Amino acid sequence: MHILIAEDEPSLRENLQWLLEMEGYTVVAAHDGMQALEFACLAPPDLVLTDVMMPHLDGYGLVKALRETTATSTVPIIMLTAKADRRDVRTGMNLGADDYLTKPYRREELLDAVHARLARKASLDATARRLQDEALEAQQRDALTALPGRELFGQRLKMVLTPVPGAPTRSVGLVCLGLDGFSKINDSLGAAVGDKVLVEVAARLSEHLRTEAHPMGYDCVARLGSDQFAVCLGDSPDLTRLEGACTGLQQLLAQPYRIDGHTLFLTASAGASLFPQQASDAHALLLNAETALHHAKPAGPGTVRVFDAEMNQQVARRLQVHNALHSALDLNELQLYYQPQVSIATGEVVGFEALLRWQQPTLGWVSPAEFIPIAEESGFITRIGAWAMRTAATQAAQWHAQGHQKFRMAVNLSVRQFVGNNLPELVSKVLAETGLPPDMLELEVTESLALHSVASTLATLHACKALGVKLAMDDFGTGYSSLAYLKRYPLDALKIDQAFVRNITQDAGDAAITRAIVAMSHSFGISVIAEGVETVEQLDFLRTLGCEEFQGYLFSRPVPAHDAEKCFAGFTPPNAPFPSTR
Ligand code: C2E
Ligand code: MG
Ligand code: MG
Repeated sequence: MHILIAEDEPSLRENLQWLLEMEGYTVVAAHDGMQALEFACLAPPDLVLTDVMMPHLDGYGLVKALRETTATSTVPIIMLTAKADRRDVRTGMNLGADDYLTKPYRREELLDAVHARLARKASLDATARRLQDEALEAQQRDALTALPGRELFGQRLKMVLTPVPGAPTRSVGLVCLGLDGFSKINDSLGAAVGDKVLVEVAARLSEHLRTEAHPMGYDCVARLGSDQFAVCLGDSPDLTRLEGACTGLQQLLAQPYRIDGHTLFLTASAGASLFPQQASDAHALLLNAETALHHAKPAGPGTVRVFDAEMNQQVARRLQVHNALHSALDLNELQLYYQPQVSIATGEVVGFEALLRWQQPTLGWVSPAEFIPIAEESGFITRIGAWAMRTAATQAAQWHAQGHQKFRMAVNLSVRQFVGNNLPELVSKVLAETGLPPDMLELEVTESLALHSVASTLATLHACKALGVKLAMDDFGTGYSSLAYLKRYPLDALKIDQAFVRNITQDAGDAAITRAIVAMSHSFGISVIAEGVETVEQLDFLRTLGCEEFQGYLFSRPVPAHDAEKCFAGFTPPNAPFPSTR
């Protein structure tokens, strides 16, 4: 504690300073009010003791000035008056002094007053800090459900995991829950219904865990993301019990939701991890549980995965890739390869798909299937995607200038590029910069787009279309495919995913689905391109289905620009020559 004394009488000043220093306080002594004010401004004290009668600036002036200065406006002030003149006292108190002592005062009297003022200040400071903490905490809560957000939850978890000296380490289980296909509710019934479902989920989880004994008190549940929740289980002695707890939580969320006259059924996937067996701190525990959830999601709705060490290696690898990807663009490590797209009827090259390639000095070649999801998650994809579009368009414009007039350049777009980024502006900028005719640029979007806010993505797609570019739906048939998208989106082409093409000649189901997709697309005036065609048999079969174009290793793998250029010569199938149309 730091006390400032203002006293012009040297012996009194020294005595006062000595007394307080004996009590363990740090004391700064000024010989008049002016000097005291300077000292106070340099380092705001915790308490001021001031004489009244002093040269230059007297005690009243000092009190007034301190109260008017922000840094010292609340500092406690005790006035030391020479005589018990009531008027002196009232003047000082009116100006903002907190207490007064009449000279000569006794040592005990002085120390009592000092201790009382400092204690009061400490309690006021604590209140101010608490209010500040509360305001900060309110900001860290999810506005919809009032649950802690990621950061606040992380802080609470950290406190819970901090070892208590002498006490045995407690096992803490953490479960991340992801609602399966939640965005479909938003899309079909509106965000207001979706919000009510989330509030209900939050309430069910909180209610379920609301026990006095829980180490995190009320804040054992958090909302980590749009449809992702975290639950801290205070007592999970082993992995089997943890898995059982996940199932319990899933059952809790599987009960029907009755909202605005609708009865809704939801499933949740779960990822879980255990402290200290699998993670040594809060950050790792949360990361592990989320990693486990990432593994659970693709395995289908309602899956539970408990973290295991192999997932950890994947986490380490992800981190490595993430870090290296951060500077990949600036270090010129990214390139585009081009894969030709061919007309099945004529063998002519009708387009190219630009595909990212990344060679990193220590990691070697990293597949886009690995780094694109990381780029999407980290947000790097915005810059990388813009670079890819610009580079592909520049290449296409160059080929166009060389006399290749009839082809299009397809560029893959990530969902992230639709969110919060001005995609139409980027497209029109790239077209203007490269001079590429708009209809030579094709944007490939995936079905996952349909899971995001439909109204805004539709508006963005229409705005892009209005610029004259083409639009293709990539990887059709995987994930959430619905033929309804064909009608809803302003598509020019649809790309049948290689998963269907792979077995098309053996699997009657895949063949039937492909046939239906082709027929439906054609009825909407959308052309169909098959991906991943590797054999002549597959190509022949696709021809019988009426599929217009293909892309695949049968003709060419994705290759660098100077090799892709050679593809303009067209495709001749190995055994069967093309019909006479060529
Ligand atoms: P995609 O857009 O569906 O691209 C087709 C993928 O199939 C490419 O994989 C291509 O190399 C591969 N492929 C082509 N023909 C055959 C074949 O006959 N057989 C087999 N087995 N595979 C074939 P790649 O280049 O590894 O890209 C994987 C995915 O990464 C792409 O799938 C796309 O979703 C994403 N991607 C690549 N470049 C970009 C990009 O610039 N931006 C974005 N957002 N995503 C990209
Ligand atoms: Mg593609
Ligand atoms: Mg594809």
